[in-house]
Amino acid sequence: MHTLTVLSGHLSPPSNGRIVKPYKSVAVKAFPDEFGKFGKFGGRFVPEVLVSALTDLESAFRSLAANQEFQRKLSLILRDYAGRETPLYFAENLSNKYKRSDGEGPKIYLKREDLNHTGSHKINNAVGQVLLAHTLGKKRIIAETASGQHGIATASLCARLGMECVVYMGAQDFKRDPLSITKMHLLGAEVRAVHSGTATLRDAVSEAIRDMVSDLNSTHYVMGSIIGPHPYPLMVREFQAVIGRETRRQAMEKWGGKPDVLVACVGRGSSAIGLFHEFDWDEDVRLIGVEAAGQGLDSGRHSAALVKGEVGVLHGAMSYLLQDDYGQTVQTHSISPCMNYPGVGPEHSFLKGIGRAEYYGITDHEALQAFERLARLEGIVPGLETSHALAYLELLCPELPDGARVVVNCDREGTKDLQTVARHLKYPNLLF
Ligand SMILES: *Cc1c(COP(=O)(O)O)cnc(C)c1O
Repeated sequence: MHTLTVLSGHLSPPSNGRIVKPYKSVAVKAFPDEFGKFGKFGGRFVPEVLVSALTDLESAFRSLAANQEFQRKLSLILRDYAGRETPLYFAENLSNKYKRSDGEGPKIYLKREDLNHTGSHKINNAVGQVLLAHTLGKKRIIAETASGQHGIATASLCARLGMECVVYMGAQDFKRDPLSITKMHLLGAEVRAVHSGTATLRDAVSEAIRDMVSDLNSTHYVMGSIIGPHPYPLMVREFQAVIGRETRRQAMEKWGGKPDVLVACVGRGSSAIGLFHEFDWDEDVRLIGVEAAGQGLDSGRHSAALVKGEVGVLHGAMSYLLQDDYGQTVQTHSISPCMNYPGVGPEHSFLKGIGRAEYYGITDHEALQAFERLARLEGIVPGLETSHALAYLELLCPELPDGARVVVNCDREGTKDLQTVARHLKYPNLLF
């Protein structure tokens, strides 16, 4: 039985011993400075009433991250409740599809985050933050959700630890996902539809921040991704970094080396950073993030903030954003509600800026094809976000050398997307 290392324990750059080929700028800056900044990105652009609450949260997080008892509880819940570790699965049929006539082509592995309890990587962060809030004596948990993953993961932990839970959800997303709402109610959470603005994920986050400000003493906001003011991007990343740590160990067991390429979808960026972070300093490992190009990068209907955005401030942090000339975020689009967000985690903006990670866009249509392809070839139905990462293999694989090892973060199970997919791919739709 493995003992899980769930937090790195050191919240500063690793010692030189761990730096294989030092990627100097990453080594210095992949941990935010005292202002919560990754380079020029991130920070704490919030009203004054929030500052001391965020400072307290940061010190609580730093001390618990170094606390043996907290680590022990966290790894126990991750193992026996969330179901970690997740397998690193060799997708043989998918790999065969990219075989070339003159060689073997790349080998594709899936990091099976879809097998976690509640069906996605979101539970890694929910476990960490709800346990943290519980330890701090908070009584009430709030969260935002788009397609329900983070809401359900958080509500489950709240049921487990006996805490009150309120989940904010954009009214647009609310309408399209009745089963998730029923499930959150079943778990004892209250789900509040948010009608303001575009009534999507962006507005759900804004509403949750408003709630947080109104009750700083007893409420903890479990941010669902690596966005928001410092320390959220750091904290959420540390809770998600277990994905990459397991991947390194499993790669070593399976082929005695490192992966050559890591691929993950980027909505706000937590599943990608969870896989990437462990390899930040391994310059020989390519990091590829895939954003939602919606109906095309030039259509004006996408949510590819890193590929097409400009630097601005949203939800308390500086990062790449899709915004107008006044700095107001614009309406975004993606077939996947949780990629439908005009910004992105500041750490990705930093990794893009120094050229450590690459970012590309995949359209709704390409994602749908990848969804179907994985189901047919591997008997695995992926989430629509996941399908963006899988779709990028079509462009990536032909240019990779033989035997290259590619790890894709298979970050969600796709049952809740069946209605959307059936509609777009014109399957006989008897269910709905
Ligand atoms: C929420 C979610 C996303 C988008 O958020 P990230 O912070 O980019 O992870 C992507 N994939 C899955 C499976 C999600 O649940």
